Amino acid sequence: MRIQKKQLPVRPFDRVVKTTCPSCGAGCGLKVFVKDGRAVEIYGDEENQLNKGSLCPRGLMALSHLYQEKRLLAPLMRERLSDPFREATWGEALDHVAQKLQKSFQASPESLYIRLSPYAGFGNIALGTVWGKHWGTPHIDSDLNPESSVVSTVMRRMLGIEVNGCAMSARHEWSASQAMLLVGVDPATTDPVAFGAILDAKDRGTRILVLDSRNTTTMRKAHLSLKCRAGTEQAVLLAMANVLFGENLVCEDFLKQWVVGMEDFQSLCREYSPEMAENLSGIRRENIVEAARDLGKKFPSMVIGHSRSGGQETGAGLIFAMIALTAITGTIGCPGGGVNLLNNFPPIEIKSESSKEIRNSENRLVGAKNGSAAWRAIAEGRPCPIRGIIWDTDPLTFCPEGRKVAEALRKMELIVYLGHYPNAAYHQAHVVFPLTTFLESEGLVFSGTGRNIQWANRTIPARGRTRPAEDFWGGLMARLNFSSPYPFIREKGEVSIREMTRYFLQRSPLLAGITPELLDPEKSPAGGIQWPASADEIDFPNHRAAVRGREGLFRPGSQIPGTGKRFPTPTGKIDLSPAKISAQPGFHNLIKIPPSGNGFKTNQLILLTGEIVDSLPAAGFWAIPQQFQISLFAQIHPKKARELGVQNGDRILLENKRGKMEAPVWVTDQVEENIVFCPSGADPFDPKFPSATPRGLFEFVPEDDGCGRKIMGSTLVKVRKAS
Ligand code: SF4
Repeated sequence: MRIQKKQLPVRPFDRVVKTTCPSCGAGCGLKVFVKDGRAVEIYGDEENQLNKGSLCPRGLMALSHLYQEKRLLAPLMRERLSDPFREATWGEALDHVAQKLQKSFQASPESLYIRLSPYAGFGNIALGTVWGKHWGTPHIDSDLNPESSVVSTVMRRMLGIEVNGCAMSARHEWSASQAMLLVGVDPATTDPVAFGAILDAKDRGTRILVLDSRNTTTMRKAHLSLKCRAGTEQAVLLAMANVLFGENLVCEDFLKQWVVGMEDFQSLCREYSPEMAENLSGIRRENIVEAARDLGKKFPSMVIGHSRSGGQETGAGLIFAMIALTAITGTIGCPGGGVNLLNNFPPIEIKSESSKEIRNSENRLVGAKNGSAAWRAIAEGRPCPIRGIIWDTDPLTFCPEGRKVAEALRKMELIVYLGHYPNAAYHQAHVVFPLTTFLESEGLVFSGTGRNIQWANRTIPARGRTRPAEDFWGGLMARLNFSSPYPFIREKGEVSIREMTRYFLQRSPLLAGITPELLDPEKSPAGGIQWPASADEIDFPNHRAAVRGREGLFRPGSQIPGTGKRFPTPTGKIDLSPAKISAQPGFHNLIKIPPSGNGFKTNQLILLTGEIVDSLPAAGFWAIPQQFQISLFAQIHPKKARELGVQNGDRILLENKRGKMEAPVWVTDQVEENIVFCPSGADPFDPKFPSATPRGLFEFVPEDDGCGRKIMGSTLVKVRKAS
């Protein structure tokens, strides 16, 4: 007898709406129970094959986010930052922004900087990019634009596809892997659904190897833990490749047929002996050799990473080394093989119909490259044409050089903020537009660990005067006469989100078989569709598949749609030449950190930052119960806590030349003795847990010519007990 669990609330409800949680790459199916237009309970959708009814705390706390008492519920306007805000209608606020732009910015459209995050939804990025191109500014900084991503730049040069993240094997195929190497990721904490697939594979005999600078929950489940010093992961991977070449554990057939640049790569690996990697990383050379043998002898093996491995922006070298390891072992294209990065953005093409479209000398659309450069210039106080900013969610808590940026922002003539809460970005704004949460509006869920795209349904009416970000951009397009090429924008600027989504999907060759109706979990099997997906590729590939569409990328005999090639590089092969990547940021990201206790002053620690599952980066606010607070910040080792004379909940001061921050301590052996780890999504205006962002203590690190993206390293801070 098969028992199907069916989750129902004890509270009364009058309807249930199925939707999708967009808060991380897992893309869990949700059942939202509604009573009199109010969401009363959220459970996982048992019919969604990805999460099978489970949810993590973030999904469960979506109601807390929805009904947070500090949420912004009406547009706000003021002339100067010193003035109090006054409430306005959306029409008044949009008229004000349109008039101000026409009066003060039209003569120099490049003086406007636009920052677009996925946290405000797909339509925010799509329409914000299109609007910016019509307006005529090249300073459009967007996470969806592949030019903005180190990962995408490396993927394009090595594999020929331009995409920010990529899963080469479908999730249900992961159990076919004989060995998994997880690099700088902690899915047990950040992506519990993906971690379930890893544990399933482990139960079936897959060997689990974890390389990380942190003592993570995932690491505790590993057969072989490769605990390294922060920033040395790349050296360890190259040393493994060195062993694979030295012990002839590479796949000669695959290399001959599908790889170019192998000699250059092999020569790079010669510099990274296991001994050298041991000295850099602190991992015993026997363990490096053992891990390499696991990857070389167990076929297929796979590598799992993230565009933010180890909580840091992943440098080009790390992504390069991950792809290279799977290429030399010949696992790319095998079920259970290849590189599988958590949290992928699909390759959606966003072009403007305007003649003002801006292209660079290689005839590529210009956007994030210059957008990032402008942002850095603002932050560093360098000469820069920017006088106005439109941005969303919580950019200030996610940027380095926080204090300098805040000073630069005070000089801006116009800052428009789209978001949910009165956070740090709100306090720097002249005009504020309150956004709906994902439970109050529909839209594409476009960031998924499984290379799948999904759909979120509107479950309840929007609170107050909140609206989706699409209505901001549509309203501005209508007022500035940019909307006529776009049939999904109504006369007054309101946007049909379904029509808009269809419009952009149909213009992207790799997604043209996908429609909102096929994704809707109320009408279609929950879980979405994997890309590439042309119209005839959207069925379930086999009875075990959880999600429709292609299971694997680069399968033998297959082609990337529209290219006629398995690997659409100029040569039709994977390019392992390090010279093609070495100009990218982080390629030589080998941070020379002395071992613990060697040359360190007693009050100096290495500050690392990253996201944790309990944070809600979409909100910028930590909509969490008060009692969890102390477990979330300034993690230090018990030995260091004793030296500083602090215990759980005491406050410590972290300081360097860029700024300082005070935070409560969590004493834990999850961090090294020489590390202090602070989550990145903090905000000094958070109603529950006000805290300075640790990002203010970092500096911008060298920028990349290819994509203009900054990467985050580690930084030294002085630490003492706060007085
Ligand atoms: S695992 Fe991710 S998608 Fe699932 S409920 Fe949590 S945040 Fe949402």
